[in-house]
Amino acid sequence: MRALIVEDDPQLASQLVDAMRQAGFATDTASDGEDGEYLGSTETYDVAILDLGLPSMSGIEVLTRWRDQGNAMPVLILTARGDWTDKVAGFRAGADDYAVKPFRLDEVVLRAQTLIRRAAGHARAVITAGSLRLDAQLGVITRDDVALKLTAFETRILTYLLHHHDRVVTRTELSEHLYEADTDRDFKSIEVVIGRLRKKVGDGIIETRRGEGYVLRSKAPA
Ligand code: CA
Repeated sequence: MRALIVEDDPQLASQLVDAMRQAGFATDTASDGEDGEYLGSTETYDVAILDLGLPSMSGIEVLTRWRDQGNAMPVLILTARGDWTDKVAGFRAGADDYAVKPFRLDEVVLRAQTLIRRAAGHARAVITAGSLRLDAQLGVITRDDVALKLTAFETRILTYLLHHHDRVVTRTELSEHLYEADTDRDFKSIEVVIGRLRKKVGDGIIETRRGEGYVLRSKAPA
């Protein structure tokens, strides 16, 4: 999963980045509205965390532009304490949720994960596929109730595939949700990691469709 953080307070931005990375997210940041708007328009994110008071372009303007372009990514806005008009303006512009400053970092992470899960169409916090189980809130993946030992990159891939099980996820799509903006995207290493994951999750769960991509099956083929 991949997140965009638009926040001009450098300390808060770096705390958010640390918390999101720790929760398994590839994370990009922008410190002003224009950069944030650009990244959100040109890159692919599972969620954006958007401060409203920003230099060069307000958070409301950024959000309005994204929505005008038809960009439906989940957006969590950060508002000042007790500023009701900010929240109303944020929701009118298309925000999905908000967190009031000062907030707990784990609350923001939790809200971001919830938005992603809902956007992928999952009503419950636990996503299951065969003997695999992802607690989307805790970020823990188990197989037959035993926690899988996964690297950060393996977790990112498997989390994305579990959110989008039973449909073809192309390698391009997958790569867009795995890497931070300044990283080389490498299909070969995805292929290698998928191979390793296949051994960890068991046979028949992750299927490769030649020339198409990958399908994570929630039920074994009949
Ligand atoms: Ca600010």
